[in-house]
Amino acid sequence: MSVYEQSALATKHALPSYLNADEIGPWGTYLQQVDRVTPYLGSLARWVETLKRPKRILVVDVPIEMDDGTIAHFEGYRVQHNLSRGPGKGGVRFHQDVTLSEVMALSAWMSIKNAAVNVPYGGAKGGIRVDPRKLSKGELERLTRRYTSEIGLLIGPTKDISAPDVNTNAQIMSWMMDTYSMNTGATATGVVTGKPIDLGGSLGRVEATGRGVFTVGVEAAKLIGLPVQGARVAVQGFGNVGGTAGRLFVEAGAQLVAVQDHTGSIYNPLGMDAAALQEHVREHGGVKGFPGAEAIDTDAFWSVDCDILIPAALEGQINKDNAERIKARMVIEGANGPTTPEADDILHDKGVLVLPDVIANAGGVTVSYFEWVQDFSSFFWSEDEINARLVRIMQEAFAAVWQVAQDNKVSLRTATFIVACKRILHAREARGLYP
Ligand code: NAD
Repeated sequence: MSVYEQSALATKHALPSYLNADEIGPWGTYLQQVDRVTPYLGSLARWVETLKRPKRILVVDVPIEMDDGTIAHFEGYRVQHNLSRGPGKGGVRFHQDVTLSEVMALSAWMSIKNAAVNVPYGGAKGGIRVDPRKLSKGELERLTRRYTSEIGLLIGPTKDISAPDVNTNAQIMSWMMDTYSMNTGATATGVVTGKPIDLGGSLGRVEATGRGVFTVGVEAAKLIGLPVQGARVAVQGFGNVGGTAGRLFVEAGAQLVAVQDHTGSIYNPLGMDAAALQEHVREHGGVKGFPGAEAIDTDAFWSVDCDILIPAALEGQINKDNAERIKARMVIEGANGPTTPEADDILHDKGVLVLPDVIANAGGVTVSYFEWVQDFSSFFWSEDEINARLVRIMQEAFAAVWQVAQDNKVSLRTATFIVACKRILHAREARGLYP
């Protein structure tokens, strides 16, 4: 019997009540990804169960007074998946569909991602089940401050550091940082990253995730002989990640042929002006009505003729219903968890190269790490220096993962999990169990 089988047997009956072994959804996707990597972990497989359950889960009630005088309650979460390699690190998502399963999966992917690019963090993630577009600015501030206070017992610059994610931004990070500082009695800039520059933010952070997506995309394109010049790119989600990645590809000579966001899908086979589209999104809240393209059906977006597809919105967007129709040669996962395991297999069989989220979108947390280091040392770097260090880390991490994929004849996702899980479990093993 292998070490893994022994470990599986030993822990078989110890599943916590809140974890469902048959769970589908983001956490179920993550568990399947861990199962796929386990045979490659050698003797470290003994510790693999540690990756299959979060270290800490905090669910909080967030009551706020609305502008009309009523009291509203929102459900908030902070999950610390694994802290073996350092403090928790991961963003905060404000979305009406946020669930505990989703935040658990996002926290776990942060553990993997942080280890994959070798920044000294564990994985964590937070969220509030709310549609922030329906709140006034005052309501949003009260919600953010109350949530920060509620999760106050877990967070801190050396314990757990938040950052922006879907529907959260530098303003929300400022309120979180201020609330934590007021509660603890000292200005603590390092409790969040993605802050405004005047508050200890880092140059290059806003664009970092998109820049990382672009960087690994260019590296992979070289390896499969796909010229970026003239490549046709389709992007789902034109926010922080998708907007930046789309624009950088266009600046490198690619053509942005299709874009989809929550307001609609647009198409122009001759390519769109990405900077103008970003401006349109800033003004109108979405891509709908952009004059440089025609509207297409939501579903038609997935069949568009393109070379590179960048999902940069939400989880589970590439699934068994649309994977077969995807025409791209390469999928670069800007979003977290955009491809279901079934779709992963379909894309693999079609010969589509998938650059997985846990490496492709790690540029954001890499520059978050730079921001945190700069905050601690109170010494700030130039944007050129930040971008150069970011590109170097992304290129080196991607090259290492590519090599592991070649050596083991596995997908880049499994290869990234092999690199990351080994780092996490080595740390776990070296620290040992306390007491
Ligand atoms: P954002 O809020 O800036 O943008 C989200 C985009 O997704 C918007 O264009 C929105 O319209 C679109 N969208 C939302 N629902 C959609 C739907 N149902 N169909 C199509 N499009 C939809 O968020 P972001 O920061 O760009 O994050 C996007 C993804 O990237 C998320 O999965 C996030 O976890 C991941 N990510 C973000 C960062 C970061 O630094 N911001 C880092 C790593 C990963």
